[in-house]
This record gives sequence, structure tokens and C-alpha cells, in this order.
Amino acid sequence: MTAYLNGQFMPLSEARISPLDRGFLYADGVYEVIPVYSRCPFRIDEHLRRMQSSLDGIRLPNPHSDDAWRAIIRRLIAAAEFADQTLYIQITRGADLRRDPTFPKGVAPTVFLFTAPLVRPTPEQRQSGVATITAQDIRWARCDLKTVALLPNVLMRQLAADAGCVETIMLRDGFLTEGSASNVFVVKDGIILAPPKDQRILPGITYDLVLELAARHGAPHAVRPVNEAELRSADELWITSSTKEVLPIATLDGQPVGHGALAGKPGPVTGQMHAWYCAFRDQVTRGAGA
Ligand code: PMP
Repeated sequence: MTAYLNGQFMPLSEARISPLDRGFLYADGVYEVIPVYSRCPFRIDEHLRRMQSSLDGIRLPNPHSDDAWRAIIRRLIAAAEFADQTLYIQITRGADLRRDPTFPKGVAPTVFLFTAPLVRPTPEQRQSGVATITAQDIRWARCDLKTVALLPNVLMRQLAADAGCVETIMLRDGFLTEGSASNVFVVKDGIILAPPKDQRILPGITYDLVLELAARHGAPHAVRPVNEAELRSADELWITSSTKEVLPIATLDGQPVGHGALAGKPGPVTGQMHAWYCAFRDQVTRGAGA
């Protein structure tokens, strides 16, 4: 029983939805991805809060209270055979009997969750950093909403895969936005830089945690626009996401990141942030008693 669909728990292979579902027809829905460590969902409050803002952003009433969400999530996590999981939640505006863009009346939303084994970066990726490329950000003007309209992100990710890279880093009007499925941090002269959380990027849960950890440990940091020249001349770069955690970038468009002996290698600030992240994650997930 690794899936939940509209009130019922079931094996994922048995989950079925209508072809008239507005998620399928219009990408009219939102989603969340929550990492689960030792059966403990990490930062669940923050994920539920972001899901609420995404729902508000597309004017879709939340079908469940936070307590009801927690109960569904708890049961799904408990039923899985694996302890470390990636929990996926999707809510769409449901399936009408006809195809009409305007919001349907009296149609229940589709609520779908499933859990799968957590896929984490390999030790090799952690140690050596990953290759990335850049591309123009061709997405819409509400990238702060976590909607299932992911075609631009899919195309961006495929560009990276075609080039043998792990992620595509996007630029809009000469400024860094984010990765196709991650936020991007820049280190310059010992200062951690992050682009502001505006409508051009997803407010990453890991992004927030990294800034919290920087503040807690007194690491110099600034949230401000980062231009293309700063991105390309960075001392260190890393990406963050719920499943990638804090992952060093070794190359950008084939050029090594950083300078001197550290060029193309994960830098000290990235290493420190990753260590702080792991310590916090382990403390929180073990402390919760799973
Ligand atoms: N930006 C985009 C476009 C993403 O898809 C993701 C992954 N959900 C992120 C940033 C990172 O967000 P989080 O740390 O919440 O996983």
C-alpha cells in the first residue's frame, strides 16, 4: 500500500484517474515532495504551509485540515517497506464531465499521494560535485507556486541530461533564478549569496533551512539578486532540494567552479553547510522517535 487516492490506500499499480482530470488536461494542480528519514517526514510543517500557499495561488480550496493531511501521511509512511522515503502529494481541481477551462462547480479535487524509496546523491557526487549547464529561464511569472505545470522544468532537465549533467541552472534577464528542480547558492569572498524569494523562484524548504543554518552558525550571508558574472566567477556553488540536500557544483557549462587549487572541487563553505545540514536533519529526525 504505497499510494493514496481520494480517500483510499492502495498499491501504486492500482491507482487510476479519469482522463478528464484537470491535472491531466490543464496541469491544473499543485504538488509537494517531502523527504522521509527513518519514517520521519522532514520539515512537514513547512511543506504543508507551502502547499497551502500554492493552493491559494491557484484558488483551489484545501481539501483537508493539516491534521487530516498528517494522518494520511503517517499511515502511508508506516505502510511502506522502506524507512527512508520520498513522499509525493498532488492535488488537482478534479475531473469534470466536460473539458472547460473555467473552474468546475461541485467537482471534488483529486488527492493523490505515493511514497517511494528515497534516492539520494551518490557518495561520488557528494565528494566530487556535479556538472551543470546554464539556460535561459523560459518559465511563467509565478515560479513561486509549486504547480504540476512542469514542462519547462522537464525540458531544462533533459538539456542537462543530454549534456551528461545533473542540473540546468537558469538565468532570467541576466540574473540567476534557480535550477530546474533546485535552488542555487553562490559563495563569493566568504559570503553565501542567495537570490531573493520572489515570484521568479520556488521558495525552497531546503533554501530556507540553509539560510537558517547560516544565521544560527554566524556564517556571513546575503539575500540579493546575483548576476550572471557573479554566478560564473563564484568561489563555490551548490544546489539545494529536499532530496539533493546540499550538493556541490563542480562545473558550470564545462568550466570548473572556483579558483586555484580548489577549482572544480567542492569548497569549504559548501562542505561546512552540508555538515550543518546533516547534523540538523539527524537531530530532528532521530529526535522525533520515528
Ligand atoms: N526549485 C524548483 C523549481 C524545484 O522543483 C525544487 C524542488 N522541489 C526546488 C527549487 C527546491 O525546493 P525544496 O528545497 O523545497 O525541495
